[in-house]
Amino acid sequence: MSNNTNYDIAVVGGGLAGLAYAILMARQGYSVLLAEKETYPRHKVCGEYISLESRPFLESLGVSVTQLKLPLITKLLLTDTRNTELNARLPQGGFGISRYMLDELLAGTAAKAGVMLITNTRIDSITYAGDRFTLAAGDRRWTARMACGAWGKRSNVDVKMQRSFLTEKQKGLNNYVGIKYHIRYNWPADTIGLHNFSNGYCGISRIEDNKTCLCYLTTAANLKKSGNDIGAMERNILMQNKWLRNILTDAEMLYAAPLAISQISFQQKEQVLDHVLLLGDAAGMITPLCGNGMSMALHAAKIAAGLTHRYLAGAATRAETEAAYTQAWKTNFATRTAVGRLVQANFGKDLTTTLFLRTFKAVPFLQRPLINLTSGREF
Ligand SMILES: Cc1cc2nc3c(=O)[nH]c(=O)nc-3n(C[C@H](O)[C@H](O)[C@H](O)COP(=O)(O)OP(=O)(O)OC[C@H]3O[C@@H](n4cnc5c(N)ncnc54)[C@H](O)[C@@H]3O)c2cc1C
Repeated sequence: MSNNTNYDIAVVGGGLAGLAYAILMARQGYSVLLAEKETYPRHKVCGEYISLESRPFLESLGVSVTQLKLPLITKLLLTDTRNTELNARLPQGGFGISRYMLDELLAGTAAKAGVMLITNTRIDSITYAGDRFTLAAGDRRWTARMACGAWGKRSNVDVKMQRSFLTEKQKGLNNYVGIKYHIRYNWPADTIGLHNFSNGYCGISRIEDNKTCLCYLTTAANLKKSGNDIGAMERNILMQNKWLRNILTDAEMLYAAPLAISQISFQQKEQVLDHVLLLGDAAGMITPLCGNGMSMALHAAKIAAGLTHRYLAGAATRAETEAAYTQAWKTNFATRTAVGRLVQANFGKDLTTTLFLRTFKAVPFLQRPLINLTSGREF
């Protein structure tokens, strides 16, 4: 490992946003440090459906949908607990790939591009003084001219930086749990299913190697009601939806136990904090129902990379760079995240979901504009 401790750029978090940003900067000749607390490959709670807006960008990073023979997803099936079923075409569509595979591919590309990738390293703090950033992990220190926070939806660094979304009063949109399985199940490769249940929804879609990802989001209250027992919650609540009952009964589960995360929040966040540019979920999270968090993370990485290059080349000041990044983030993602919050607040409540599905079934021309509001263009 290099003994260098001074870099042009330091990135905290090697999920999609951090890895994509680090690759772009290293390819432009900058010295880049990326610290990731886990090792690759690793599983992650995520529905693993990526909207096609990301395809050209991912291909430029060496992830080819065609070469990897990934399932292309063009249809949507929405269901509820009253046996309502809505079939729609996805105007844009997407593809399926596990985070196990995708993040490892990107980590390999980053290492090849010259990124100093240090895994198994949890950053404790980032501080800014004298126009430089210092990252600390235990007694290790690194400095950089630019720092990016790509540490995901909730991290120890958020706590250290006393971010406001952590201290805001518990509202409806900030206490969710996410559960994920990889399964073998006869699910159509071209369809993503979104199955509603009381206070939650479950996505199902194919990924690589004929595997299927089953991932759901629900309130912490739902789990508590079931004695914090995931199996009991699935039997008592999820299985009220007949599609979920069939899937959960018949599927072959490929993990010994489900993967679970808690304290998921969709509150609004800052895009720049103490001069650190925040990428991906660290800057704001779209509800998984809209299926676009990964594309947003990748797109934000591309925007930040362009602005960082201008800053490091002396074409913009730090203040101009921070203002331009915040503005670009809001222009590209603010409407999507707001619509996502609105849909999230309703899809999951029994009656509103049924009303929603029946309305959209009766008036099909409403489907496309709503889906489009939560999607973006190729970047
Ligand atoms: C239930 C659920 C389902 C979802 N389904 C979908 C879907 O189908 N499609 C979609 O597009 N999006 C989906 N999303 C959203 C998507 O997973 C995220 O938007 C995406 O992962 C964001 O990428 P990121 O790089 O910002 O964060 P992450 O991918 O979370 O990466 C953050 C990284 O930072 C690391 N880290 C954290 N703290 C530190 C530290 N202190 N030091 C070093 N490293 C650190 C973590 O280990 C992690 O690797 C879903 C989310 C949830 C919760």
